[in-house]
Amino acid sequence: MSSFYDFDFHDGVLDGIEAMGFDKPTPIQEKTIPLSLEGRDLIGCAQTGTGKTAAYLLPVMHHILSNPDRKGVSALILSPTRELAQQIDQAATGFGYYADVSSKAIYGGQDGASFETEKKALTLGADIVIATPGRLIAHLNLGYVRFDDLKHLILDEADRMLDMGFYEDIMKIVSYLPKHRQTLMFSATMPPRIRQLAASILINPEQINIAISKPAEGIVQQAYLAYDTQKLPLLLEILKNDTHVSIIIFSSTKIKVKEIERELKRLRLPASAIHSDLEQSEREEVLRQFRNRNLRILVATDVLSRGIDIENISLVINYDVPGDAEDYVHRVGRTARAESTGMAITFINDMDMRRFGSIEELIGYEVQKMPLPEALGNGPVYNPQARDGHSRFGRGGKGGGGRSRGGHGGGHKGGHGGGHKGHGKPRQEGHGGGGKPRHKKRGKGGGRGPQQGGAPPQA
Ligand code: AMP
Repeated sequence: MSSFYDFDFHDGVLDGIEAMGFDKPTPIQEKTIPLSLEGRDLIGCAQTGTGKTAAYLLPVMHHILSNPDRKGVSALILSPTRELAQQIDQAATGFGYYADVSSKAIYGGQDGASFETEKKALTLGADIVIATPGRLIAHLNLGYVRFDDLKHLILDEADRMLDMGFYEDIMKIVSYLPKHRQTLMFSATMPPRIRQLAASILINPEQINIAISKPAEGIVQQAYLAYDTQKLPLLLEILKNDTHVSIIIFSSTKIKVKEIERELKRLRLPASAIHSDLEQSEREEVLRQFRNRNLRILVATDVLSRGIDIENISLVINYDVPGDAEDYVHRVGRTARAESTGMAITFINDMDMRRFGSIEELIGYEVQKMPLPEALGNGPVYNPQARDGHSRFGRGGKGGGGRSRGGHGGGHKGGHGGGHKGHGKPRQEGHGGGGKPRHKKRGKGGGRGPQQGGAPPQA
């Protein structure tokens, strides 16, 4: 697995990555960053949730910081919506926290004062300008925008920009840019008109595809908000009346795995654990029993989860939120093969909400939050923007009102066993702009409007 240190980034960029709490690059970052650092044009086929924003921001920031003569706007990022523009700006603020790189989002729909701040950023030259096409055109039409020193153009969610009718606007904006530049285009889908757009504005681009698998429709996904002390009683409560024929429980440490196994055995439930303390032959024996359906419940550590090749499990319980969003999809995908239906339940403690938020972002919908059994008392309130204390999934700080949903208090209604097929409601597009940065090093030029900011890293 590669590390961010393999990329030979400018120190300022590495500081930003550290401040954001990212441990290792996501697949899209791993594949696109080296090409982008070489200056290649790129088409990245990737959705929100894959880490695409950092995939283009980090190398662009590296180029900006490595250019001693930089002046004017160095990078222009086009975004279909204000919300995405704000979100990108918040990520840029997070990464640029320690580096001397300024950014400004230009997205319209505000008062005259914000138009003036935008104008100032465009004329004085914020290093990175993030704009919705319509608003940028409004500025371009007034004649003061100079993109003479621009080195990078990024089109984010290009397919959506075309869906929204921005083709002409994009072409007009491109006509204002230097021909000699790097162009990066990210799109969730690659219909012919995207290829056509790419053919007209990119030069010899490399295409990188990140296929994200989403859990199959037949899988019922639920989550419980539970403090660590509530997890074991919750698990026992769930299993007490459960009739699933084969169940895997994943936990993050072998200590917890052993504890769960002990408790289940104490209740005379047919459970065995596999973890790294067991001999290979012992692990294989447990897995054989489980595969043959002679063992109903398998308890396993995260580390072993990827290597376990068992399908047709009827219930997967994530005792802890998986550290990697892809792991979540992978695990959940073990249930509900073909015609059968399956179920996945995840326990989210107060520290793992952000990480679970990233998973929901990746799969594209909110997982249904179940109320805790009454006897367990209240669990934490779901707020995926909350500080998580973990470095693995630090999120770019989406400002604005945290979603605060279910899972606390209330009786144990409906339980987990029934046929809730619902995956919960689709995720909303917009994330309101919000929290102010603790501190923002000013780059040259581009002042930040009052709307700007975004949560500081890990805030
Ligand atoms: P994006 O696809 O750019 O919207 O990113 C999705 C989420 O993943 C954001 O909250 C990012 O902060 C987070 N993220 C991006 N790259 C990484 C990484 N290498 N490690 C951990 N989290 C990341």
